[in-house]
Amino acid sequence: MQIAAPHTSVSQIERAVADFLKSPVRMIIGKQKLEAANGGTIDVFNPATGEKMAEVPRGGAEDVDKAVKAARAALNGEWSSMSPVDRQRVMLKIADLIEANGEELAQFETLNNGKSVMLSRLIEVGASAEYMRYMAGWATKIEGSTIDISVSVPPGTKYNAYTRKEPIGVVGAITPWNFPLNMAVWKIAPALACGCTVVIKPAEETPLTTVRLVEICLEAGLPEGVVNVVTGTGEEAGAALTAHPDINKLAFTGSTEVGKRIGIQAMQDMKRVTLELGGKAPMIMFDDMDLEQLGIAAGVGVFFNSGQTCCAGTRIYAQKGVYEKVCETMAQVAQSLPIGSGLDPANQINPMVSAKHQAHVSACIAGGIEQGATPLLDTTAYGGAGYFVRPQIFTNVSRDMAIMQDEVFGPVFTISPFEDPEDAIRMANDTKYGLGASIWSTNINTVNRYIPRIQAGTVWVNTHNLPDQNMPFGGYKQSGIGREHGRSALDNYLETKSVCIALG
Ligand code: NAD
Repeated sequence: MQIAAPHTSVSQIERAVADFLKSPVRMIIGKQKLEAANGGTIDVFNPATGEKMAEVPRGGAEDVDKAVKAARAALNGEWSSMSPVDRQRVMLKIADLIEANGEELAQFETLNNGKSVMLSRLIEVGASAEYMRYMAGWATKIEGSTIDISVSVPPGTKYNAYTRKEPIGVVGAITPWNFPLNMAVWKIAPALACGCTVVIKPAEETPLTTVRLVEICLEAGLPEGVVNVVTGTGEEAGAALTAHPDINKLAFTGSTEVGKRIGIQAMQDMKRVTLELGGKAPMIMFDDMDLEQLGIAAGVGVFFNSGQTCCAGTRIYAQKGVYEKVCETMAQVAQSLPIGSGLDPANQINPMVSAKHQAHVSACIAGGIEQGATPLLDTTAYGGAGYFVRPQIFTNVSRDMAIMQDEVFGPVFTISPFEDPEDAIRMANDTKYGLGASIWSTNINTVNRYIPRIQAGTVWVNTHNLPDQNMPFGGYKQSGIGREHGRSALDNYLETKSVCIALG
C-alpha cells in the first residue's frame, strides 16, 4: 500500500511528531480544542520504554454533553443539507489526508501503541484510508425500495408505498487500544457515509491518532461538530457517553465485559447498539494441511500485532498426524521472532500496550503453568524497560484451564491434538466466544463439511486474521452484536422509514 508523506526526510517527520507532542493535546468539540472542564489530565505512555510521552484531557460528563450538543447541532445544520456526493467528496479528501500524513500517523501509533511501524503503515494508515474511500463510495448509494401493498381502504384505493433510509442520528463511538486509528475509522467512515454525526471516545491508553484524525477531518472540510473527540477513561467519559440521552446509537469495540455493560445501559432508552467484542479463535489443522503454510499460520494467525488481536488464533487443534510438526514449527517460529521496539520494523514481537496489560499477559502465562499446562518455551520474564512479554506456547491443556477459555490478548497460545474431526469441532466451539476461526486443509470436502459447523462470525481457510472492507465482520455468541464492514455496516447507521401515500 502506497503512503504519500508530505515530509521528505525521517528527521522532518520526527520533528513534526515532536512538535505535535510539545503542544498540549486537546479534545476537539465543534472546532474548538479544549481541556477537560474539570482541568484533569491522563498520562499517555510509550510502551516500548515505559516513559510518559504526552498528557490528554481527562474528559467527563460535562465535556461529553458539550460534544453531544455540538454533534446534534451539526446533524441539524449544514451537514444535513449536504448532498451525498458532497459527503462523498469530503470523505475522499479525508482519505487523501490520512495518506498524506501517513508517516506521521504511523510514527504516532507506534510510539503510543507499541506496534510495529510496518503494521502502523499498513493497517492504521493504509487500511484506514482505504476504508474511508470504500465507505465514501456508499454515500451515494443509499436507497430505499418501493413496495406493492395489499391493503386497500376504502376498497379500490391505490397507494404509493416505499421505504426511506435516514441517518440514525448522533453516534457515540467507543474504541479499544489495539488498532486505535483503524477502529476509529471503522466507526466514523460508515457514520459519515450515512449522514450521521459522531462523538468518539478513544481508549485512554492510545488517544493520540484519533485526536489527529479529527483534526484531519476538519482540515478536509468536514463541517464543525460532525466528528468530535472526547478523551478520558471508560468509567468517566465512556460511561457518560453511553448514558447520554441524546445519543441515538452506540458503536463499541472492546472487551465482552464492558460490551455487556454498554448493551444493558443502551437498552434503558433503546439506543441502537453494535458491539464488537472479544474472541478466542480456534485454528483447526487437519492431517492433509499444507505444512509449508505453518509459517503463515504463525505470522498472521498467532503473532500478528504481538497477539493483541481480537481474532488471534489462540487455540490450535492439530490432528494426530501433524501435531508433532505443528508444535515443533510453532516453537521454532516463536523463538526466532525478534523482540523489541516497533520503531525498528525488524522486530516482530513488540511491547504490550501498557504495564497493566503486560501484568495481565504475564499472569495468564503463570496461571497456565500453575494449572498444569506444559510451556514449550523459556518462561523467564523479558527484562528491561518497556512492557515486553516473551511468546509462550502451551501443550497438555484441558478445556477448564483459564488459558483455554479467557482472552489473553498477547503472544500466548495453546496446541491440542485430536484424532476425530468431530472432537475438533466440539472443542473449537467450546468457549463463550465466536468471532473468528480457521480451517487448515487441502481437502475441499473437509473444508466445506466443517465450515457450517463452526460457531464464528468469520471462518478463514488456509489463512487467518484477514478482515476485508467488503466482508461482514462481527461475532457469534458473546463476541458481539451486529456486523461491521461491507454493505451490512451501513444498516448500523440508518433507520428505515416506511411511507404510505394514499393516491387521490
Ligand atoms: P475495554 O473494553 O477495556 O475498553 C474499550 C473501550 O471501552 C475503551 O475506550 C475504554 O475506555 C472504554 N470503556 C471501559 N469501560 C467503560 C465503561 N464502563 N463504559 C463505557 N466505556 C468504557 O477493551 P480494550 O482493553 O481497550 O481492548 C481490548 C478488547 O477489545 C479485547 O477484548 C478485544 O478482543 C476487543 N476487540 C474486539 C474487536 C472486534 O472487532 N470484535 C476488535 C478489537 C478489539
